[in-house]
Amino acid sequence: MMLICGMTNAAIADNFSLLSKLMDIHGENSFKARSYSTAAYTIERLPEELSLLPTDKIPHIKGIGDSIAKAIIEQLTTGTWNLLTTYLSKTPAGVIEMLQIKGLGPKKIATIWNELGIDSIGELLYACNENRLTLFKGFGEKTQQNVKAAIEYYLSQQGNYLYAQVEQFAAQMQQVLPKIFPQHQFLPTGDFYMQRVTISKLCWVTTATASVLEQFFTQHQYHIQPTDSNDSIAFLGPENILLEFYLTVNATPAELQFKYSCSHTFWEAFTQVLHLPQGKFHSDNAIFEAAQLTYVPPFAREQASAIQPISKATTPVIVVNDIKGIIHSHSKWSDGTHSLAEMATAAKQQGFEYLVISDHSRTASYAGGLSIERLLAQQQEIDALNQQLAPFTIFKSIESDILTDGSLDYPTEILATLDLVIASVHSGLSMNEEKAMQRLIKAIENPYTNILGHLTGRLLLSRAGYPIDHETIIDACAANGVVIELNAHPRRLDIDWKYLEYAMKKEVLISINPDAHAIDGFSDVKYGVLVAQKALLPASQNLSSFSLPQMQHFIQQQHTKRNS
Ligand SMILES: [Zn+2]
Ligand SMILES: [Zn+2]
Repeated sequence: MMLICGMTNAAIADNFSLLSKLMDIHGENSFKARSYSTAAYTIERLPEELSLLPTDKIPHIKGIGDSIAKAIIEQLTTGTWNLLTTYLSKTPAGVIEMLQIKGLGPKKIATIWNELGIDSIGELLYACNENRLTLFKGFGEKTQQNVKAAIEYYLSQQGNYLYAQVEQFAAQMQQVLPKIFPQHQFLPTGDFYMQRVTISKLCWVTTATASVLEQFFTQHQYHIQPTDSNDSIAFLGPENILLEFYLTVNATPAELQFKYSCSHTFWEAFTQVLHLPQGKFHSDNAIFEAAQLTYVPPFAREQASAIQPISKATTPVIVVNDIKGIIHSHSKWSDGTHSLAEMATAAKQQGFEYLVISDHSRTASYAGGLSIERLLAQQQEIDALNQQLAPFTIFKSIESDILTDGSLDYPTEILATLDLVIASVHSGLSMNEEKAMQRLIKAIENPYTNILGHLTGRLLLSRAGYPIDHETIIDACAANGVVIELNAHPRRLDIDWKYLEYAMKKEVLISINPDAHAIDGFSDVKYGVLVAQKALLPASQNLSSFSLPQMQHFIQQQHTKRNS
C-alpha cells in the first residue's frame, strides 16, 4: 500500500496506546500491554518525526527496542499494523467506543463486557439506569453515576437527542424567546412539535428577521450553522442543541408552522389535495377546512393515511390522564430501586387503580431474576399488601425472559400462579430475522403469554433492535389474543408507533407500560402516550387505560386461554 503522506508520530503513538488498552480489555499479559503504552509515551515525545528517519535508525532510538521498532516500521510502510487489526477485529465496535467514555478504563470495560455481557454504550447507559453496575466489583454508586453522566455527555455530542432529553430546554426556550424579542412571534414546529422519538433540532417559525436573531444569538455564545432551507437561520450554543428559525418572508406564521410540522410523505399527499397559497391562512385549522379534510394534529402529520375527508365521528386520541394503571414495573425483588410496598403505595397515591409488578425471571441472573421460591414468596407479600391497600390492587406478574428456544422461564404450574405474564427478550439480542421470528412466535403462541414486552429490544440512538416482520408478529398476536407493549421508557418506545395503525386494524390491544425500575419511572407513561398519539391510538385500545374492573375482567378472559 502506498501512503499519500507519512504517518505522524501522534498517530503511531495512538495506535500503541489503543493496542495496550485492547490487550488489557482482553485480559492479555499485562507486561506486554504496559510495554506498548510506554512506547506510546516515548513516541509522542520524540523530537523528530519517525517518518523522516532512515528505518535502520529506528531500533537505536532511546526507549525503543527491536520489537517496537518493527511495529513502527510496519505502520510507516503499510499504514496499518496487523497485530492491532487482529485485536480490533475481535472486539465489538461498541466496546472500543467505551474507551471514549471518561472514567472507563480497560479493566472496567472488561468487566462490563465479560461479566455484564454489555457491548454497546447504549446498553451500558441502560444498565446504569437500572442500577446494574453496582453489583460488580470495582463499581460503587459513585462510579455508576459518573459513568452515566459521561455516557450522557458523549451521546449528547452525537447531534441527536431523545425527546425526553430536550423537553425541558424546549419549554424554557418557548418561554424565553418572546421575552427577548417582545415584538415578535415564535411558533414551535419541527421534530419536537411533532413528538418524534428523537430530535435533531428545535425549530420555530418567527416574524423576527435573520439580522435581529443573529445579532442576539452571536452575542450570547451561539454560532451560526448552515441550514437546508433558504428562509431559515440556525444557531448552535452552549447546550449543543441546534436551534433553527424559519423566517416569515411571504407566508404567514401559521402556514410555515404547518409546512414544517409535516413529514415529507404527509406534505406531498396534502398538497395534492390543496395547493397551499402563501399569505392567506392564519391557523392550521383554516388550512384543513379549506382542503375539506379532517383536522390532523401536528403529532400525527406523518403518514399519508392520516389524511381523511371531513367526518363527524372522530375517536378522541389517548391522553396521559387515560392511563389508569401501571403495567410492567420492577421492585427490589429483582433490579428495582424501591420495595414492592413503596411502589404500590406511590402508585395508589398518584391515583392509579392498580400496579402490575413484573420483576425479572430466573434466567435474568444479572438483574436479580426470581427463583421459583422467591417468586412464590413475593406473591405472599402481594396478598398481604392487597389487603392493606384495597381497593387498589397489585397484580401478580413476571417479566419472563423469552429463552433462546422461545419458551418461557418457568414451568406451567408456576406460570399458572400469575395474573399476567409479560414475555420479553433480554439475551441473545444479536440474531437474524428468522431466529427472532421463531423465538417471538413461539412465545406468542404460548397460552401463558399475555403481553409481549419491548418488541425489538431497540435502544434509541444507541442500539437498533433485532430485525422482525412486524405485520406477521401483529397477526400472530391477533390470533392468540396477545397484547403488544408500547414500552414507554424514552429510550425504548418499542413497538414503534409506525406499526400501531396496523395493530389497530387487527384489533390487537396495545399497552403503554413504563417498565418502571423506581417510583419516578411511572411518569414515563407520558412518553408512551405522546408517541401513541402519533398513530391516533384511542384509549379504548390501550390496556393500561382499563379501569380496575375492566382489568380484572380482561385477566379472567386471558386465563381461559390457559385451559383450552
Ligand atoms: Zn425488559
Ligand atoms: Zn422490565
